[in-house]
Amino acid sequence: MTTIRSSLFLLMTAILLPACAAQPGVDYTVRLDRARNQIVRIEATIDQPGEKAEFVLPTWRPGRYGILDFAATVRTFDAVDQSGQPLPVEKIRKNAWVVDSVGAESVTFGYDIFANELGLRTRHADDSHVFLNGSSIFVMNPDRRLDEHIVRFDGLGDWQVASGLAKADSENALVAANFDVLVDSPIEIGEHRLIEFKLEDVDFEIVIWGECAKTDEELSDDFRKIAQACMDIFQSNHFDRYVFLIHSADGIGGGTEHLNSTIMQTRPGSFTSESRYRGFLGLVAHEFFHTWNVKNFRPAGITPYDYDKENYTTQLWVAEGSTSYYDDLLLARTGQRSIQNYLDAVAGSIGSVRGNPGRAMTTVEQASYDAWLKFWGPSSPDHRNTNVSIYTQGHIISLALDMLIRSETQGVSSFDDVMRLMNERYPYEVGGYTPEQFQETVAEVAGTSVDEFFERHISGVEQIPLEDLLRTVGLELKLQDPDPEPFAGVSLSDSGGRTVVSRIYDDSPAFEAGLILDDEIVSADGVRLDAGKWTDILDDSEIGDLVTLGVFRRGKYREVQFKIDGKVSQRYDLDLTDEPTESQRVHFEDWIGQPWPEDD
Ligand SMILES: [Zn+2]
Repeated sequence: MTTIRSSLFLLMTAILLPACAAQPGVDYTVRLDRARNQIVRIEATIDQPGEKAEFVLPTWRPGRYGILDFAATVRTFDAVDQSGQPLPVEKIRKNAWVVDSVGAESVTFGYDIFANELGLRTRHADDSHVFLNGSSIFVMNPDRRLDEHIVRFDGLGDWQVASGLAKADSENALVAANFDVLVDSPIEIGEHRLIEFKLEDVDFEIVIWGECAKTDEELSDDFRKIAQACMDIFQSNHFDRYVFLIHSADGIGGGTEHLNSTIMQTRPGSFTSESRYRGFLGLVAHEFFHTWNVKNFRPAGITPYDYDKENYTTQLWVAEGSTSYYDDLLLARTGQRSIQNYLDAVAGSIGSVRGNPGRAMTTVEQASYDAWLKFWGPSSPDHRNTNVSIYTQGHIISLALDMLIRSETQGVSSFDDVMRLMNERYPYEVGGYTPEQFQETVAEVAGTSVDEFFERHISGVEQIPLEDLLRTVGLELKLQDPDPEPFAGVSLSDSGGRTVVSRIYDDSPAFEAGLILDDEIVSADGVRLDAGKWTDILDDSEIGDLVTLGVFRRGKYREVQFKIDGKVSQRYDLDLTDEPTESQRVHFEDWIGQPWPEDD
């Protein structure tokens, strides 16, 4: 089941990085005897090290574009030669060590890692399991990056090992074609539940740590439908084995794509509530779609990975946004989401994009480039005024491009063809794609220039005319309420018995009046206030009303006065048009993969 087969993964990276003489790679031993104390010991051995051997721990992990500095979790480090004699080892950067290996036949660099981080999907150990994302755990020897890497386990006991990596010849060992494959193949160790199924010559495994109330049949049926819908788009599988790793525990959520596996986290309640399970299946679709979009065809700026620092690209909106577009759409195509439920979700995303003040200031390309700073990083409250989401903005741009292509080609082509062609033309081993290559592919599929669309809505911040575009598939996008509502531009929250400013909108009445974050608001027009009451006051006020807030800032009292403004709330309905034309009906059915709903 887990023998190495012909796979592009074995070739990946080798073609992209400078060739070096064939030599054995790194042989790791993972010691699990202190897992219950959340300590994992790694020993990395290389033969014939020469005079010096360098070991470097990545600073980030694939799929999360933010510096995480895993070296901070290294508790102790040491080095020995083939006889167990200590060798001098020196730390030379925050994440790099050099062993003096003059005369040694082999070097073993050992280190203890504190493994208690679960929610970022990096490393976690306790008495029930060990989860290892390679980039947070395994040091790289830069000279051996392209060579075969072996991982052995010591102290497994009754635990099993699950991973997208193939099993090595010996028991309890995994093999990776090179370091990049190793760190893009998370490893789950424990007493987990295993479900297997086969589709299009691909062997699938679902591996679950934690509680899951669904039966094996329910899960494999649902995963199979999603996998088939993805495969139908790409029409080519560059892998013959795929592993869905699932963590089910309270307080966690989200997922990360990897080469031929994914790690997805959710709460046990996701398997008992219909709406939460639908959300979880959206995550399954998202992560599996990534197996092509970003794991196979990748932006040039992140190909190959530089594990030491930020890897810049303006195309993360394609990697994340186009994938977000398809995650819900695929569930509508498979029937795992009702059409109206899907349309409501799209309307919600449109409202969130249009209602975001950062939309007027930052392009989706700039947001992609700055994702390292602004998406995951210590998020500044100011980002809510100035930034856009590569996920949601990229989702809506992908929707718009899909509509544009369907309209321009009379339904002959679609954004599905863009994804399929990108995968065919820019597989990982030929190097990453440039922004120009992506745009050229869209134009080719659309059969017309898309320069204006890209200039306005991707390199620019102009609002996309979705009302027009969505008519292609017979949908009407309408504001729920076109009348302005009272708007002050300040959000309050109650914390520790105080009511404080949690958000200020740029250029709003509260902004102009000089209210700032963390101001404590004690009263409105002389009456004591809390966050709920402030919502009531706004609902009851008229545009133009004057309001006076009592404010404490650094212990001193002041009064701040402003006029309530009016603003149209960006909440939308997306509905089927009453009398679709034949072409709208055909485009709709081709897009969503379901018949046009007829009135009962
Ligand atoms: Zn994603």
